[in-house]
Amino acid sequence: MSASFDSIGMLTRLVGFDTTSRNSNLDLMEFVRDYLAGYGIASEYVYDAERRKANLFATIGPADRPGLVLSGHTDVVPIDGQDWTTDPFAVTPRDGKLFGRGTCDMKGFVAVVLAMVPEIKAMPLAAPVHLAFSYDEEVGCIGVRRLIATLQDRGIRPFACIVGEPTEMKVIRAHKGKISLRARVRGFECHSSLAPRGVNAVEYAAKLIVRLNAIGARIAQEGPFDREFDVPYTTAHAGVIAGGTALNIVPRDCWFDFEFRHLPNHDPQPLLAELQRYAETELVPQMHAVHADTGITWQDLSSFPGLATDDAASVVTLAKAASGANSTGKVAFGTEAGLFSAAGIPTIVCGPGNIDQAHKPDEFVAIDQIAQCERFVRRLVESACVRG
Ligand SMILES: [Zn+2]
Repeated sequence: MSASFDSIGMLTRLVGFDTTSRNSNLDLMEFVRDYLAGYGIASEYVYDAERRKANLFATIGPADRPGLVLSGHTDVVPIDGQDWTTDPFAVTPRDGKLFGRGTCDMKGFVAVVLAMVPEIKAMPLAAPVHLAFSYDEEVGCIGVRRLIATLQDRGIRPFACIVGEPTEMKVIRAHKGKISLRARVRGFECHSSLAPRGVNAVEYAAKLIVRLNAIGARIAQEGPFDREFDVPYTTAHAGVIAGGTALNIVPRDCWFDFEFRHLPNHDPQPLLAELQRYAETELVPQMHAVHADTGITWQDLSSFPGLATDDAASVVTLAKAASGANSTGKVAFGTEAGLFSAAGIPTIVCGPGNIDQAHKPDEFVAIDQIAQCERFVRRLVESACVRG
């Protein structure tokens, strides 16, 4: 028999594993696997290429028919450079809140689901409850893609999926998608006193960023718009840049990282193509006119699709009833939900905590949110999976 945990006890265990995305998550997953095995529930690992990390998939109840997926990621963002007043890898209760890295994003939801396993297991399940826990969400929703591919290979076709990212237990049926890239500008180096004989990589990168910014400004004016998002249009942004070595050298290299955060039904590819066309037709010819061994190259960093589940979808109805909500929302931040949805699994996002509390020092989840999440999961499983 397994040790039993309440949600806070389980959260304490999970936060104790430092699953910052750069680390292996296997210690945490072994704990989960052993815990589930204590209730006679088998787990399957879907590993990354190096077998350093794994997704975990487990099924409670009859596996031969469509079921409900409860999904969360196990990785957390780094604490590097953050000024914590509590131990980030312990749970510290204070003022009705639980502090610790990942309490909000999103070990809180995973802990609630795991703590409720004995209760779910004891229900007369007519449809299965699947647990789907992933790795490397925070670095581009990487791990869950292998998990979803495995489900598709097996012909597992869930009728609904709940991704428990922090929404303060609101039912979120849409979020933006993202594409992100690195642009590398190769210029031609020379002494800065001879600047016109060189090709200044920093200056050409700056021109590209100005154009990216202009594209963003145009969309902000012209749309498309969806007023249910707090930023109701697709955005463009350059976030990291590096170039040059000394002021008296015309820089040979400069690179920068940028992204489009797009409305789920607004294809960002034409926007990217517009930027690349500007580079190819206007900037590169100017660069080549000075020196042939120059240019601009593009590298995909990461992307994930937006989520746009119909308000009338049964997963929305189920989640609204279970949460007691009479409305749904849309959020700007991305989740794994868009990938589940793209695989044909009706998906919404609903979980404890507020995204404002994620990724920060002294991250926390309110104890009341954990209690709300327990009620939500109980009602959801009862209405979606229990016979009767
Ligand atoms: Zn998250």
